[in-house]
Amino acid sequence: MVMDVITTHINADFDALASMIAAKKLYPQAVLVFPGSQERSLRDFFIHSTLYALEVEKVKHINLQEVRRLILVDTRQVSRIGRFSEIVSKPELEIHIYDHHPPSSEDLHGSLEVISEVGATVTLLLEILQQKGIEITADEATIMLLGIYEDTGNLTFPSTREEDFRAAGYLVRKGANLNIISNVITKELTSEQVFLLNDLIQSAKRYRIHGVEIVVAQASTERYVGDIAILVHKLKDMENLNVLFVLVQMEGRIYLIGRSRIEEVNVSEVASEFGGGGHPTAASATIKGMTLHEVHDRLLKILRETIKPKKSAREVMAYPIKTIEPERTLMEAKEMFIHYPIDILPVVEGEKVVGLISKETVERGLYHGLNEALVKDYMTSEFSVVYPETPFSRVRELLIGQNQTLLPVVEKDRLVGIITIQEVMQVIQQEMMKSDQEGLPLVPRKKMISKLMKERFPERIHQLLVQFGKVGDDLGYPVYAIGGFVRDLLMRVENFDIDIVVEGDGIRLAEEFEKRNPCRIRTHRKFGTAIILFPDGLKVDVATARLEVYESPAALPKVERTSLKADLYRRDFTINTLAIRLNSANFGELIDFFGGIKDIKDKVIRVLHNLSFVEDPTRIFRAIRFEQRFKFQIAKHTQNLMRNAVEMGLIDRLSGGRIFSELVLILEEDNPIPALKRMKDFNLFPLLHPHLRFDEERMRLFEQIHQVINWFDLLFLEERYDRWLIYFYGLIDGLSETHTIELCDRLMMNERLKKKVLEGREQALQSLLQFFSWNQQGREPKRSEIFALLDPLSTEVKLFMMGKTTQPTTRRSISLFFTQLKDTKPLLRGSDLIQLGMKPGPLIKKSLETLRKARLDEEVKTREDEIKYLMETGGWGS
Ligand code: ATP
Ligand code: MG
Repeated sequence: MVMDVITTHINADFDALASMIAAKKLYPQAVLVFPGSQERSLRDFFIHSTLYALEVEKVKHINLQEVRRLILVDTRQVSRIGRFSEIVSKPELEIHIYDHHPPSSEDLHGSLEVISEVGATVTLLLEILQQKGIEITADEATIMLLGIYEDTGNLTFPSTREEDFRAAGYLVRKGANLNIISNVITKELTSEQVFLLNDLIQSAKRYRIHGVEIVVAQASTERYVGDIAILVHKLKDMENLNVLFVLVQMEGRIYLIGRSRIEEVNVSEVASEFGGGGHPTAASATIKGMTLHEVHDRLLKILRETIKPKKSAREVMAYPIKTIEPERTLMEAKEMFIHYPIDILPVVEGEKVVGLISKETVERGLYHGLNEALVKDYMTSEFSVVYPETPFSRVRELLIGQNQTLLPVVEKDRLVGIITIQEVMQVIQQEMMKSDQEGLPLVPRKKMISKLMKERFPERIHQLLVQFGKVGDDLGYPVYAIGGFVRDLLMRVENFDIDIVVEGDGIRLAEEFEKRNPCRIRTHRKFGTAIILFPDGLKVDVATARLEVYESPAALPKVERTSLKADLYRRDFTINTLAIRLNSANFGELIDFFGGIKDIKDKVIRVLHNLSFVEDPTRIFRAIRFEQRFKFQIAKHTQNLMRNAVEMGLIDRLSGGRIFSELVLILEEDNPIPALKRMKDFNLFPLLHPHLRFDEERMRLFEQIHQVINWFDLLFLEERYDRWLIYFYGLIDGLSETHTIELCDRLMMNERLKKKVLEGREQALQSLLQFFSWNQQGREPKRSEIFALLDPLSTEVKLFMMGKTTQPTTRRSISLFFTQLKDTKPLLRGSDLIQLGMKPGPLIKKSLETLRKARLDEEVKTREDEIKYLMETGGWGS
């Protein structure tokens, strides 16, 4: 027995079904077969009853060897027809194709092909039915119209053709039931669908790829949930997205659905990479044998490869252009530089660029008296050019990576524009303004943490936060605690440096707070910030997140979020972008725009966007500090951005003061050594000074210093000292004096500090030398000698010496100083001496010194001993 089969693509949609029904009218003998096992996307009741009437055959009941003719509708891709692909290469098989998809590399060919890129395949088939005068029923018309509606987005997709409108009109005339259609299309979501939709919304992340915004949402569900396409539609409309990919894992497969309404992204190209297909605007694929994660990664990779970079040299270049001819003199060139605010000129012959000449070259030439020399003899004739279509990324690379400060843009040998670093920075800044980048959630995560706050905060802090919320309530401002304070709360680390952000006027909030509480405030009008100081030393920073005034008041919740989000977006790392709402109604609501909670859980330091280190290179140091303090990991991509920033020389652009304060913060950490090692990994030391190293030897020295500091802290002395300075002495230990001075200057230390550094280092070396020579002489220094040597030195210098020395006796001596010697005083006071008959004057001081020395060397014990000692040594004077 032989048979004809009408089939379509797996995961048949309404157009596929409608086309099969239409085809059956052309081939009444043929059997209808879906290539997949079950077509669940079509499980609507109305459709079911229709399918029932149509006597659709199951593919497993078909003997493929008996198929003589295969009629394919709404597809011609071999990978989309399921088991039928096994027979397509049989020579005796006849294939007829009715399809509206664009061509692809895996297209089948038929002896009959009716292919045209109309909105729906059923439109094509309807034309044929009409020509042949074949009638259709009202029910059939209904399904066909559903097919057209679905594939054309209710006749709104750009792929919709005039033919589709005509076909739709014809179907209405034939009695298509619009009630049924609107029921099927706008069907209420089932509760499973609602859950799935919610998961999709929560997981949705934005990516900016070559300037195009893409949203990817994913979810997985144990049970089969139908009509994912409807969810995709809803999600896309809810958030008004241009490009959306949805990945749903269900029953061992991953369904990928893509929608795009912009030219730059062709979702069918992307789907075909996963073995699926569709249209540039709507496509899907079913993926087996990959995890959600793998599909997600692969999807991004494909998108990075397929999306065409939007910006090219043409969009960023400047024109009109000032140029100069090669035969002009340097004097004339100088005139140009005087009149125009530029540093470099293209040299142009006719319309062709033949060189570049810089202001500096011209000035140097004139200095040497070369007024009449010609530009062509002094211009640079080796230079890079770009073309209008050169991608921006390349332009940026050329200008930042090379020594050329101006790039001519040429088209067919003609100079059409120029690009300098200025244009590049402008574009970078524009991109920074657009606030969304890599993988940021579409909506913030929220979570109540009021219980945790109650548990972790002392009552005083808790009350303070409540109070801020109340003041905010009264002024109508949303108020949040943000930053390191929130991060440390979640990590159960004690930190009461409270940072407050107000969506409104931060200064007004601080002033209102001051009226109601015993505290003082300091305001900084220009930045809208205030500091609140409490009598017990507690300090709270208040900042203003401005409301975006241009948004309509009706969308108020959106406005609120936008400004907090914008404020948080300027911060360094995701873990520092968490906010806690303090207003009474939402007290304790944790808001997470950028995945900070997850990164804390995963122990990851991650920047918010690719230009973060360009915006502020000190974040390189901050990343390292946080990574080592919390034992986190800097995310791979963030590390790449850091290395990039280092290579681009961004550290050189940083002011010394900023580098210095970051260095101090690192050296003030409990144990700075891991962070210093990491700085070495990132090649940062040579950027501070070319001779600065953190080698094995220095590492050992730092370990010693670290131990010394730990020991010292356990003594619980009242002594205050700058921990960073001890390590800093360690850092410059291998540098010459000249290099040390250069380093201090690079770090913009003030004169006082610089002197302290240089003197301290000198004192340490001299004093160690003294210990060394006692040692050489084979004798232990007297206790008074130790005192005399060490007492004038700062604590930092002494501790540094202790870490630096390799001699146990020296270390013992310094330790002795701290534990026994340093507070040694005679029992007699100056007043005692006067009472005993000594004349007031310098002698008193000298006598007390003598006594201290005697006491140090254990020559006196009692008050009487002291008096006797003074008598005997003639300390009484005459
Ligand atoms: P620490 O525990 O070291 O004080 P912190 O996170 O509180 O850590 P601060 O230096 O006190 O850090 O800064 C407060 C907040 O300001 C940070 O949480 C961060 O959000 C933001 N911030 C500080 N420096 C930068 C920077 N260079 N770039 C962006 N945001 C920054
Ligand atoms: Mg802080």
